Amino acid sequence: MPEERVAVVTGGSSGIGAATVRRLRAEGFAIVAGARRIDRLREVTESAGATAIALDVTDRASVEAFCEQVPRCDVLVNNAGGALGVELIAESDDEHWRTMWESNVFGLMLMTRALLPKLEANGNGHIVNIGSIAGIETYAGGAGYTSVKHAARAISHTLRLELSGKPVRVTEIDPGLVETEFSIVRFDGDEERAKKVYEGMTPLTADDIADCIAWAITRPRHVNIDEMVVRPIAQARATIVARNVGL
Ligand code: NAP
Repeated sequence: MPEERVAVVTGGSSGIGAATVRRLRAEGFAIVAGARRIDRLREVTESAGATAIALDVTDRASVEAFCEQVPRCDVLVNNAGGALGVELIAESDDEHWRTMWESNVFGLMLMTRALLPKLEANGNGHIVNIGSIAGIETYAGGAGYTSVKHAARAISHTLRLELSGKPVRVTEIDPGLVETEFSIVRFDGDEERAKKVYEGMTPLTADDIADCIAWAITRPRHVNIDEMVVRPIAQARATIVARNVGL
């Protein structure tokens, strides 16, 4: 078994995942990163000195093929996911809901189940789930996304119960507004609409969240950081954002 500690990062091709690949590499971890857009992923991993493997977290065969190539796993960052659309429940889009549930919830389960034996085997495993303030709040038009992040939070809590007595820590990081490709994906490529989300305020950066992940996983082995809720100072609630006040 290789000596270097190995961190697996899902959704490493952009945003928080890409920043986490770079940051955890700098912290001395060997990194295996996965995403569907393999060219984008390779751009990230090649400059960071990490390994890229194609991964669709919603596809069990893809998850299994990916995990078979992971030599050992000390840290699993379940980051792949995101939101699609903003729609009232009365007008919900079936495909948006299905895709969000499959990537943010089902994918998180598939990855965790596949890597748990390796996380346990080294006597010091750590699962980091990227939730959201959408997992602790709701807003009109957001039920597709808030429901999946509430579910992810329930999984983080349940994992901590089921892993009681085992050497695997479980941390959930719940960010507010982070400027990544998140809003571009949410609004189906509409960059103008995406830009408005961050207008007149300073959002978090992907590096801010990578910093939280790095801090949580580098605490001593007996310290479990359960949850970190991290917002820009300008964001009091999911939909309450102070704009044009210099924050
Ligand atoms: P992003 O820039 O759009 O990145 C999303 C990443 O997830 C991409 O690398 C994408 O890669 C990957 N992904 C999506 N579906 C996937 C699938 N089926 N299989 C494998 N990879 C998949 O957005 P981000 O902000 O960094 O989002 C990362 C996480 O943070 C998400 O879970 C999101 O819900 C959460 N979050 C974001 C914010 C925010 O404001 N940005 C706030 C709270 C929480 P491919 O498309 O190449 O597969």
